[in-house]
Amino acid sequence: MLSGKTALVTGSTSGIGLGIARALADQGANIVFNGFGDAQQIEKLYTDVGAEFGVQTAYHNADMSKPAEIEAMMRFAAERFGGVDILVNNAGIQHVATVDEFPAEKWDAIIAINLSSAFHTTRLALPGMKQKNWGRIINLASVHGLVGSSGKSAYVAAKHGLVGFTKVTALELAATGVTCNAICPGWVLTPLVQKQVDDRAARDGLSNDAARKALLAEKQPSGEFVTPAELGALAVFFCSPAGNQVRGVAWNMDGGWTAQ
Ligand code: NAD
Repeated sequence: MLSGKTALVTGSTSGIGLGIARALADQGANIVFNGFGDAQQIEKLYTDVGAEFGVQTAYHNADMSKPAEIEAMMRFAAERFGGVDILVNNAGIQHVATVDEFPAEKWDAIIAINLSSAFHTTRLALPGMKQKNWGRIINLASVHGLVGSSGKSAYVAAKHGLVGFTKVTALELAATGVTCNAICPGWVLTPLVQKQVDDRAARDGLSNDAARKALLAEKQPSGEFVTPAELGALAVFFCSPAGNQVRGVAWNMDGGWTAQ
């Protein structure tokens, strides 16, 4: 369905971004990977995905907190693949502390990576998408783009901001073939969440399994984690012709979290 298209997925060396990159590659899209990690492992990762799905893959190591590096990544995608047709703004970090104890530099980093990077990639991808009159922008927000949780001020502010940015981008593009939507996952068991499981296990003297169950029990009625593959399938739907008129939504996939 997506052969001939190119997808750039920020933060795709791990977790949800990798799951979405794999789902888009499975539909025939070429993939530009981005994110941190061991250089050799990353090279193996994008080479393996290319071979598994028979698509072209590449990687750029831009730091999403640095606009100049984002510009270099977008130039790289344009030179290598003639532009980005599907932009998945996924890179994100977390830090948990109360507002009065929140380190100012963590606040700035979370706003830069989880929110401002999406502005920079989007503004740079849009001219090409408008020219082709086709494009898909998918912003990985969170249930925390819809509701709050104690200790996550920067993350919740950034994700609410990302949902707002999604709506405005969708409206500005409403009469074009370019759509923009947000995905709002509940708990997904990735390194970002495992750290919170580890913190809880240490704090409450729990086993890893008990800490995972306690985390889910608090917020996610299904008692099960959402998976990167399920989120990848939703991203594929947004890219399909059936998604043509899905514009500006903040679509939760959260095991019932925000239904409460
Ligand atoms: P993860 O830690 O597994 O992956 C994060 C990715 O972002 C990695 O590839 C990492 O290298 C990359 N990254 C981090 N900082 C970066 C930077 N400065 N520049 C470039 N890349 C950077 O996390 P995840 O759980 O897969 O999270 C992916 C997205 O989904 C995030 O935006 C997160 O907020 C969101 N999300 C996650 C959950 C969850 O439960 N895991 C729930 C809702 C939303």
